[in-house]
Amino acid sequence: MELAPPELIAKYQPVIGLEVHVQLATRTKIFCSCEMAFGAPPNTNVCPVCLALPGALPVLSMDAVELAVKASLALHCRVNPVSRFARKNYFYPDSPKGYQISQYDEPLAEHGYVDITVDGVKKRIGVTRVHMEDDAGKSVHDGFRDSDRNTYVDLNRCGAPLIEIVSEPDMRSSDEAYAYLTELKQALQFVEVSTCDMEKGHLRCDANVSVMLKGAEKFGTRAEVKNLNSFRFLKLAIDYEIARQVALVESGGRMVQETRLFNADSGETVSMRSKEDAHDYRYFPEPDLVPLRVSDEWKARLAASMPELPADKRQRFVTEYGLREYDAQVLTLTRPMSEFYEEVASVSGDPKTAANWLMGDLAGLLKAAGKEIEESPVSAKHLGELVAMVSKGELTGKSAKDVLPKMFETGEAPGPIVDREGLKTMSDMGAVEKIIDDVIAANPKQVEQYKSGKTAVMGFLVGQVMKASRGQAAANVVNDMLKTKLG
Ligand SMILES: [Zn+2]
Repeated sequence: MELAPPELIAKYQPVIGLEVHVQLATRTKIFCSCEMAFGAPPNTNVCPVCLALPGALPVLSMDAVELAVKASLALHCRVNPVSRFARKNYFYPDSPKGYQISQYDEPLAEHGYVDITVDGVKKRIGVTRVHMEDDAGKSVHDGFRDSDRNTYVDLNRCGAPLIEIVSEPDMRSSDEAYAYLTELKQALQFVEVSTCDMEKGHLRCDANVSVMLKGAEKFGTRAEVKNLNSFRFLKLAIDYEIARQVALVESGGRMVQETRLFNADSGETVSMRSKEDAHDYRYFPEPDLVPLRVSDEWKARLAASMPELPADKRQRFVTEYGLREYDAQVLTLTRPMSEFYEEVASVSGDPKTAANWLMGDLAGLLKAAGKEIEESPVSAKHLGELVAMVSKGELTGKSAKDVLPKMFETGEAPGPIVDREGLKTMSDMGAVEKIIDDVIAANPKQVEQYKSGKTAVMGFLVGQVMKASRGQAAANVVNDMLKTKLG
């Protein structure tokens, strides 16, 4: 397929909407009590309900509803007091019911939004709806000796609890789509409704992409691109699809509404089937389930139990701790990271320095050891104590940089290490003065240069004193004392 060059693409406006499926982190499936265990032997977490045996009836999991409501609130949606389940009829070999239990014209929640920032520009992306549904099983196409001829079916995932989050077609570039999915994932992880682990399929994304001439009002015909199981693929697939559609339209072709599959190996999207319309699914109200009612009291209780959302936390870190926007963003990437930071900030009493130590030295040690912040051998309390010692002048920054790796190795608090190694900042001013006098005596040439106005040489002299004190003299004290002595 010929792709359009950038100068042609520049004439067009891409229009993108995302449909995101998220697996809820419940212990059981949505309509039966089977365990949701990833990686269990095939077809072991199944029962008459999720196998769709005759006479078996679904019972809605309240845990799943609770998480779905929390997700809706995290996306600023209005949760409907009554929503209904509907049957979406289609055949899949890994779906024994022959239909999916989903929600159709009365979804759980509507009218939400996600705020994104791309290249410093803030933008609000609408969330059309959040609805609940069950997942299908898995067709296993490889891994067996006869996989070249046969496909196997694993029904463990049948009945896994999902929410589908449909956005408005508000995004105008693959970067905006990327930012939207990033914010969405972060919010859902913070409120702990899902692990959002894309590798395990707990977060799956389809993109609706169309193009229209810039300035046009009517959207072009869209293609739905499926199988975007990483952030990188999402961006690649959207960019490919934009270039493909522009080339097609420019060459006089007509877009058809279709479902396309992203091929990660070739980086292309390929036509899978013509896109079905809602009426093809013969939706009808699910007769085996009563309408789902979410009372105001319940909703309020759930809202009260929610943690601060990442976007709000980011804003607060800037205003309350005086952090730069970028630092606030790094420190709120995950909930454990943000909680760790707040403890270091509080223990140290010096939020800005705390941020630097956490994002610099500790992050470096964690990265080298292949550990996440949750696994840090240095506790937030201990890092806070170390930062406090530096802030109070009890320990020089240089000594602290030697202490932290030892804390990392042993899990000890900084105090005992500093005592054991005699690293406390020299409080004996007489001793510091003696070192300074020695350095002045040993470097007559530099002293002469300083006196003749070459003040840059001060750095060298301070360095000599620090070296002689093994980094234990406080740099500001040394600086002041040297200046006084040299006039
Ligand atoms: Zn079951």
